[in-house]
Amino acid sequence: MTTDNSSMESVSHEHRKFPPASEFVKSAHISGEAAYKALYEKSIQDPEGFWAEAAEELHWFKKWDSVLDASEAPFFKWFDGSRTNLSYNCLDRHIEAGRGDKIAIHWEGEPGDARDISYKQMHLEVCRFANAMKARGVKKGDRIAIYLPMIPELAIAVLACARIGAVHSVIFAGFSADSIRDRVLDSETCMVITADGGYRRGKMLELKQIVDEGIASCECVKDVVVVKRGDAHPVDCKMQEGRDSWYHDLVANVDDDCPAEEMEAEDLLFLLYTSGTTGKPKGIMHTTAGYQVYSYLTSKYVFDLKQDDVYWCTADVGWITGHTYIVYGIMQNGVTQVMYEGAPNHPDEGRFWDIIEKYKVSIFYTAPTAIRAFMKWGDDWVTRKDLSSLRLLGTVGEPINPEAWMWYHKMIGAERCPIVDTWWQTETGGHMLTPMPGATATKPGCATLPFFGIEPAILTDDGEAVEAGILAIKKPWPGMLRGIYGDPQRFKDTYWCKWGGKYYFPGDGARRDEDGYIWILGRVDDVVNVSGHRIGTAELESVFVEHKDVAESAVVGVPHEIKGQGLVAFVTVIDGREQDDQLRKELVTMIDKSIGKFARPERILFSSDLPKTRSGKIMRRILRDIAEGKELGNVTTLADPTVVQDLQQQYLKG
Ligand code: ATP
Ligand code: MG
Repeated sequence: MTTDNSSMESVSHEHRKFPPASEFVKSAHISGEAAYKALYEKSIQDPEGFWAEAAEELHWFKKWDSVLDASEAPFFKWFDGSRTNLSYNCLDRHIEAGRGDKIAIHWEGEPGDARDISYKQMHLEVCRFANAMKARGVKKGDRIAIYLPMIPELAIAVLACARIGAVHSVIFAGFSADSIRDRVLDSETCMVITADGGYRRGKMLELKQIVDEGIASCECVKDVVVVKRGDAHPVDCKMQEGRDSWYHDLVANVDDDCPAEEMEAEDLLFLLYTSGTTGKPKGIMHTTAGYQVYSYLTSKYVFDLKQDDVYWCTADVGWITGHTYIVYGIMQNGVTQVMYEGAPNHPDEGRFWDIIEKYKVSIFYTAPTAIRAFMKWGDDWVTRKDLSSLRLLGTVGEPINPEAWMWYHKMIGAERCPIVDTWWQTETGGHMLTPMPGATATKPGCATLPFFGIEPAILTDDGEAVEAGILAIKKPWPGMLRGIYGDPQRFKDTYWCKWGGKYYFPGDGARRDEDGYIWILGRVDDVVNVSGHRIGTAELESVFVEHKDVAESAVVGVPHEIKGQGLVAFVTVIDGREQDDQLRKELVTMIDKSIGKFARPERILFSSDLPKTRSGKIMRRILRDIAEGKELGNVTTLADPTVVQDLQQQYLKG
């Protein structure tokens, strides 16, 4: 991002505003704007008092001596002196309160097999597997890699680690053998938990084989535990003598009772590598007590969780969204949730809506990339289904284009459900900017306002406050990362150096509007300076997808002799529509009208697909490399490498 202090062109043309329905407001935890403002003020004036009060709702073996200890900043400590356990707060606490028979997880496999698991059963499974791990010699502090499909054993393995104080490092089960190797070596994991396979679009992915290849040269791995998923699809799963064991064998002969380890506040809970949208993934460290309180409270308020809700987050547990908003935050709140193994378009494009209808899902949390896919597949898949159980919708992962937001609001939310557009990161542990569903009037494409205790600022490189610039976070918060594994210097350099340690630097650009709402403009690298006009590429993309023939688009900045930077647009057209100069002209006219002639792209390229991470985010850095004719940077986190080859060829053709 450029360093001048001029404020950014106000390129947004989005003025629609949607207050929450009065029905929703009436019974919401945070009811009405004034209630949000009052509690927010309190959380900023007296953060320690605010967080201590939240922590009181959970179980502690021993309470804290101090709420926040900033004496070694940026290595902050939260709830220092306390002892607690996340698995206890996710499971035992509900059983003690007499809610053990409540369903924790309605699990649905891709082929249609299903399991309902109560909190009591979950507790039992977690205790058994925790004992099995102990029997294999796993100790507190050991790093355990988990490479599993979205089956209950994934949540069980995560909670079993937390129960005995082992550090889990979940690797999304779509990653390659090389990605497994990098992560296993970086964190020196001693055990890998995997499955023979997992279903994806009707096919069986042979996960154990990928693990074998990935860890072939990793001497640190002493144990591989394999869950049998493929009964109907027997997989040729070679077990290595002395290293590999079947999960079902290990849990067959162990004790049901496994008391939760009393963990210190700053004991490492998990490692999770970022999605790699901007480069090589970073091993983010999260610790126990602060993350516990933050994941609990953000879940409760942002999803307005009530005891009779059926919640469904479509993310994989392999991403931070699944850690916080499938496992820890949601289960600490003791609600019932749906967990689904497979693809949204198997056996057909209506699968998600079938699941919502079947389980009467009331809260639905998904990603913009999924919403854009649903739009592309057409409304018929949705209108045939009964989605009347829904009361709240959410999105996460990327800026959501206003067009996609409106579709979500109308087609899925029936104009009745508030949408929480939640901005946060692997590093932040939980939601940072988000509407409060019963309080905040939402605007399409806007993450709106800070969560309690979060004090955002928008700054220049020099730390001057501006309307549009670089997003910064002023106060520490309990869910914050505590480091990059094995590299404290990189942790300081990446997140704390930009403004002399006074602010956390998330790496995203943002703009504040006349209501004080914050709009995320994309990564700082994606804010482009064209002849002195600073443009968030996300805003151009949102204009393009308003065109009826456009499914998706990505815009990047490239060096330009006269303008400093110019823009190149990659546009994906809806199946069967024309991609020609006429469409290019129409797109340029739209840019002229909604942003201005200065934002006209130098080139508009049509492409059948865009390069994405395995979590579905558009990788603009690769498009930048293509547009500059450079060698491509780190591509290991790319979901489908062939997309890039096609684009490169097309780009060269002109
Ligand atoms: P890496 O850090 O390795 O490049 P990543 O940033 O994609 O990968 P994540 O932690 O999964 O890894 O993603 C966080 C980023 O996703 C945020 O910094 C932001 O750019 C984007 N993001 C998440 N939610 C939103 C949202 N609601 N609106 C806009 N952007 C979002
Ligand atoms: Mg990031």
